[in-house]
Amino acid sequence: MAARAHLPGHAGPRVRDDERDEESEKRTMTAISSSAIASARRAFEDILGPTNVFFDELDQQSYQDKFAVDDERHHPAGAIAPSTVAQIQEIVQIARRYKVPLWPISRGKNLGYGGSAPLLAGSVILDLSRMQKIEYDEHNGTVLVEPGVSFYDLYDFLKSRGLKHWLSVPGNSWGSVMGNALDRGVGYTPYGEHTARICGLEVVMPDGMLVRTGMGALDGSPTWQLYRYGFGPSWDQMFAQSNFGIVTKMGLWLMPEPESLMGMDLEFDKPEDLGPLIDAIAPLRREGVLQQSPTIGNWLRAANIFTTRGEWTDKPGALSDEVITAIRKKFNVGWWGVSLRLYGRESINKAAYAVLEEAMTRIKPMSLKPAKWRRGEPLEATGWTGTPLTFPMQNANWYGGRGGHIGFSPVLPQSGAAAMAQFKRTYDRYKEYGMDYQASFAFGERHLINVNAVLLNKDDPEMMAKVDPFLRQLIKDAREQGYGEYRTHLDYMDAVENTYDFNDHALRRLNERVKDALDPDGILAPGKSGIWPRRYAKEREA
Ligand code: ADP
Repeated sequence: MAARAHLPGHAGPRVRDDERDEESEKRTMTAISSSAIASARRAFEDILGPTNVFFDELDQQSYQDKFAVDDERHHPAGAIAPSTVAQIQEIVQIARRYKVPLWPISRGKNLGYGGSAPLLAGSVILDLSRMQKIEYDEHNGTVLVEPGVSFYDLYDFLKSRGLKHWLSVPGNSWGSVMGNALDRGVGYTPYGEHTARICGLEVVMPDGMLVRTGMGALDGSPTWQLYRYGFGPSWDQMFAQSNFGIVTKMGLWLMPEPESLMGMDLEFDKPEDLGPLIDAIAPLRREGVLQQSPTIGNWLRAANIFTTRGEWTDKPGALSDEVITAIRKKFNVGWWGVSLRLYGRESINKAAYAVLEEAMTRIKPMSLKPAKWRRGEPLEATGWTGTPLTFPMQNANWYGGRGGHIGFSPVLPQSGAAAMAQFKRTYDRYKEYGMDYQASFAFGERHLINVNAVLLNKDDPEMMAKVDPFLRQLIKDAREQGYGEYRTHLDYMDAVENTYDFNDHALRRLNERVKDALDPDGILAPGKSGIWPRRYAKEREA
């Protein structure tokens, strides 16, 4: 595949015949000539050397999104891999000179949301995975990490120092600590809301200016990773899920190794058990008896790690209740399952455990298996102990073929009735579209996130034709209830952003005013989170 000569508009049905002229005019306006790409590439090579500039066909392929419904919409022109802040500052100037959009990634493992691919085809991937420094303040339990530090890197680093602090890791932990926190990924310990543990950033702005947020603005301050807000406006969250800057360092708080861990693994037999389960956990979470973020998963989330669909049926369409019952029986899993964990002093955990046990037995679980650990004992390798994992990725193989999944994740109130209604609505849609339902309901402090994985097989054209309309239908259904997604795949960033519509999309107007002020050439991740710089305004999905 040759390097893209221009940025194509989004392909597809939304271009009507009478819009063609406007469409071709739009493309001329946003075109990057192949000579601009070639010139930028030479300039990148001058500062990075040819070995860190990747524009060959195989290079381009390796940065594509293997899970996208139509990955061509997101093919990058190439990638560049700097190793210093000074190089990033120079790269930004080159991108401005040649009007070449950059798409920053840390390790690019944001699978289900776009992986390492850019939203706009023809962008250049700014691969920051070579930047891997870790600074650790053991006394205060903080780290300052560069973009390329993976969960495994940080885990090995802390383990070699006696694991005095624990990580919080996402279900698939092969990505970066920074990229996950910037995309608001979640884990399962009391530090599971990763973005909430950010304390201080270093950022290269789209004009090349280097900024430190919070107390980092005070040159040489020993409190950069200790106090989040600094003086005046506080900007850390401005760089999460945005296209306002390239983060080069991130401060994060880590959980001190607890004295003990106690809890229970629970299974529930019926779909209707979801409502009472949520209503039983929610007050404990709000009260702080439970400080981690439990996630209630359905049977398929548990079972598809051990088996594949083909072992049970070859019938197309959503699985029948008979097949579901047979799979659940074989692996001894409930329709829903959840794990609750308490962290900290053993005496406190014991008291809190009694409260949890009472609340859970009242709603009659199918099984309740206690879990217990005390400092010094071997640790179980799970997300609850902050151990990085990749085995849940096995779910991509559910249908066979070239597998994948795309997330649909609306934010809900912590209400059993609301969650049951959302579950029923969504499950009915899965059946209508003939897809197998994998879902979870993950607790925050005041909200639930209903993460649905739309599992797919890219070698099944009939299925692939359904995935896009299905996801758009789910977004529409959620909007009708007043629900919006917390995070989404590149393909749905415009659709989701469009649901955030108060006062004629005032938030969009604010975001885009900020975008144009900071990035007048629109070089940084155009279209990310539905934020389009003026230069590419016509690329927004209608
Ligand atoms: P991970 O390596 O954890 O999988 P990614 O590198 O895929 O994370 O990035 C996740 C999201 O965060 C992407 O949308 C990406 O554009 C954004 N992102 C990642 N690193 C940076 C960074 N250093 N600065 C700005 N945005 C970033």
